[in-house]
Amino acid sequence: MERIHTLAIQQTCDIGFISKVEEASGQHISKCYQCGNCTASCAYTHVYDYPVNQIMRLVQLGQKKAVLQSRSIWLCATCQACTTRCPNNLDVARIMETLRIMSRQENMVAERDIELFYHEFLESIKAFGRVFETGLLPMFSLKAGKPFTDMDLAPRVLKKGKLAFLPQRIKGRKQVAAIFHRFEAHQLKRTEELRQAGLTQPVEGDSHPDECE
Ligand code: SF4
Ligand code: SF4
Repeated sequence: MERIHTLAIQQTCDIGFISKVEEASGQHISKCYQCGNCTASCAYTHVYDYPVNQIMRLVQLGQKKAVLQSRSIWLCATCQACTTRCPNNLDVARIMETLRIMSRQENMVAERDIELFYHEFLESIKAFGRVFETGLLPMFSLKAGKPFTDMDLAPRVLKKGKLAFLPQRIKGRKQVAAIFHRFEAHQLKRTEELRQAGLTQPVEGDSHPDECE
């Protein structure tokens, strides 16, 4: 894997990026002094394109595109080890979650399969009130264009009774679905408000080079 990244930070800086991430996450990222505890705690550093402390530094430097297009934010497992060990009490896991949301909003997702899995996972909860794995996994594989992935495991797992053939009927199923419907209605309203105000989503690569010089 390519581990060395060279960024022309003056040319790609968006000076307002850190404020947006701080506002959305509620975390004071400018307090990060690069001690590296978060990266030392992270079990996924070996697969990240940027270690988590570097993600924090890139946010400070306004490197919106590099951060929102990184694989790291999607490979993060939200285990919160980084949050637990940050000497500045930064909720680093929450910042990573915020960056995933922003990455989707800006259409900059690097790991489409992971985004698809998130989507299918939530659709399953919306439909059944809790995850129905036996439906989720084939649906995900099909939509990801890998219909035969792990298919050989299915008979063994089913034989051991690890997966149910039918979804469980939980209490409060309608209430769970109502949460999703409220969110979707809010999203539609917000989109319409933005449209009427003549606002469009920020485009990929949008930056303000002069402000970082
Ligand atoms: S542990 Fe906290 S202060 Fe240290 S590098 Fe990570 S985010 Fe920054
Ligand atoms: S929450 Fe994410 S970034 Fe933090 S230690 Fe866990 S996997 Fe790594």
